[in-house]
Amino acid sequence: MPARSHPLSRDVTFDVPLAKWTSVRVGGSAEALVKPSHPDVLVQTLAIAKREGLAVSILGGGANTLVGDGGVPGVTLKLPSGGEEVDGDLITLSAGAPITRLVTLMKQQQRVGAEFLAGIPGTIGGATTMNAGTKNGECMRIVDGLELATADGIGWVKSLPFVYRHTAIPAGAVVTRVRFRLGQGDLKESQAKMEADLGYRKRTQPLDKPNFGSVFTNPPGDHAGRLIESVQLKGHRIGNAQISELHANWIVNLGGATARDVVALMELATTRVRDSSGVTLTPEVKRIGVFTP
Ligand SMILES: Cc1cc2nc3c(=O)[nH]c(=O)nc-3n(C[C@H](O)[C@H](O)[C@H](O)COP(=O)(O)OP(=O)(O)OC[C@H]3O[C@@H](n4cnc5c(N)ncnc54)[C@H](O)[C@@H]3O)c2cc1C
Repeated sequence: MPARSHPLSRDVTFDVPLAKWTSVRVGGSAEALVKPSHPDVLVQTLAIAKREGLAVSILGGGANTLVGDGGVPGVTLKLPSGGEEVDGDLITLSAGAPITRLVTLMKQQQRVGAEFLAGIPGTIGGATTMNAGTKNGECMRIVDGLELATADGIGWVKSLPFVYRHTAIPAGAVVTRVRFRLGQGDLKESQAKMEADLGYRKRTQPLDKPNFGSVFTNPPGDHAGRLIESVQLKGHRIGNAQISELHANWIVNLGGATARDVVALMELATTRVRDSSGVTLTPEVKRIGVFTP
């Protein structure tokens, strides 16, 4: 990373523990955490990283990220949350804004369409990159445009290809703003859907302990949780990480868990499920940094 006297240095902090920036509260430190105060700073940071061959990791709300115990070399980007525009059915938010902000603005504007995002933690950047959603909807279906930053500059695209829990963000690009298109509809029904969803989450998800939501994506026609439960791993513990007793596709941090504990549980679940049913589970959670065996 550039020396501390570099012009970008006011936006850079070194050796920053990242566990507190993730929902599962696990992992080491960022070598250099950059919080770009201006889009130009972001572009310059990407250009410097490209020129100097530094790895770039992007952390949104950290609700779907596992940071390695060995820390994250190179640059870790954390985008600001400010700046929003509302224009009829269109709502534009910064990538660093919390997902809840979209839900709040939808309600304020008396619009509908983003109910499925209520209760999903994280940022707008993370939600679009992951194509976050539930069986009731997915993020990219309500996106009307994305602003992307690269080492060469910033520009808008109308859409990007997406599939279940994945959007094809071009290599080296960072989502900086997202425009959503909402609609008009039955506001009472919209509110009822969100309340039902939140009630379901409280009953079925171990929200009382640090976690990163679903560990694996659901294989076609099945549920990762059902498969993991079928190999008797519900409640299984390695170190201070545990496959939740409430939902087998969730891993919880019982306090002081390491990334190594979490990865060991993921590998155990993958092996047991493959041996028992032939299904290869695909992690939904994204790993950044150095993982020690
Ligand atoms: C309690 C709980 C419940 C959850 N429920 C759901 C659910 O119902 N449905 C669901 O889909 N997910 C769910 N999740 C997972 C998580 O909330 C979503 O994936 C969310 O979209 C992650 O957003 P984030 O900002 O925290 O992403 P992060 O974890 O910070 O990042 C996720 C990925 O996106 C990339 N990224 C983040 N921001 C940008 C950006 N600006 N530009 C480019 N890349 C970026 C990161 O590099 C990483 O690869 C849940 C998680 C928890 C903890």
